[in-house]
Formats: sequence, C-alpha cells, structure tokens
Amino acid sequence: KRAMTKCFQLTLAIIKPHAVKMPSALHSIRRKIISNNFYVLNTKEVMLAKADAERFYGEHKQKFFYNRLVTLMSSGPLHVHILAKDNAIQSWRELMGPTKVYMAQFTQPATIRGEHGLSDTRNAVHGSDSETSAAREIDFFFPGFNVDGWRERVAKVVS
Ligand code: ADP
Ligand code: MG
Repeated sequence: KRAMTKCFQLTLAIIKPHAVKMPSALHSIRRKIISNNFYVLNTKEVMLAKADAERFYGEHKQKFFYNRLVTLMSSGPLHVHILAKDNAIQSWRELMGPTKVYMAQFTQPATIRGEHGLSDTRNAVHGSDSETSAAREIDFFFPGFNVDGWRERVAKVVS
C-alpha cells in the first residue's frame, strides 16, 4: 500500500472532437477508463478557440501536422479528464496505443486508438507524456487545480 501511495500519479486525458461526436466511440472510451481502474478527478466539456489549441500544442509548432492538429482540436467540443492511478501517465498512454493509427490497428488493435482512430491526426485521444506536461496540461484546462494537494488526498483514500 505504501508503494501505491508513492507511485500515485495524475494525467490529463482528452477525447478528441471526432470521438466525442460518435456516441459508440465515446461510450467505449469511457468504459475503458472505468474498467482500467482510473479515478476520474475532474471532467469538463470544452470548445477550444483556435488560439487556445495553438497554445496547448505549442511544442509541435514546427511539425508538418501542426495546422491539421490545431484545426481538429478546435473543430468541436473536447471531453477533458483528470485521471488518477498508479503510474497513470504510462498506463493511460498504453491504453491509448501508438500515436499512428496504422501502427495501432496492426500492432495493438484493442487499444483506444486501434479501435477508434481514423487517421494519424484524428487518433481519438490525447494523454500527457510526462509529469511536467501533465502539470502544465491540467493547469491549462483546470486553472487552480492543486495537483499536489489532490495527489495526497487521493493517495490517502486508496491506501
Ligand atoms: P501523442 O498524442 O501520442 O503524444 P504527439 O505528441 O507526437 O503524439 O502528437 C500530438 C498529436 O499530433 C497526435 O496525437 C496526433 O493527433 C497528431 N500527430 C502526431 N503525429 C502525426 C503525424 N505524423 N501525422 C498527422 N498527425 C500527427
Ligand atoms: Mg504528445
């Protein structure tokens, strides 16, 4: 139980607009979140302005897919979740599957991206890639959310 407390981690998960619009995909992704024992600490539906999507994905500014990505992420409502679990960042990324949908479909078809990805950009979900980006991304969507305070509170409940 001590190990669980020590490893407890938060991550930011986003269901991307094309998946939010498809009821069967949305339902399936939510079921996977629950059945994989993530605690959902906060949820919101939000529509990003293009400038906000650009700021969120600033690290990809130089990439060839940046414009496509920003257009997708500001094309409709997102479902944004703060997830908590042991090793949440890696665990959520494993559940998402590979970034590229053809890789996901061929090598890990049971992942979220394997099942619901439509293209390399419309790959259904986002997940933080490190503790630093999780903290930044949680603050982006839930300003004032006390990451460290919550980590301690939830760790106490589950240990
Ligand atoms: P991940 O979402 O797996 O962390 P990245 O951070 O590298 O992947 O990229 C952010 C998002 O940009 C991806 O989820 C996807 O929507 C889009 N993207 C990444 N690589 C490509 C690509 N080669 N072609 C089109 N879109 C891409
Ligand atoms: Mg990334």
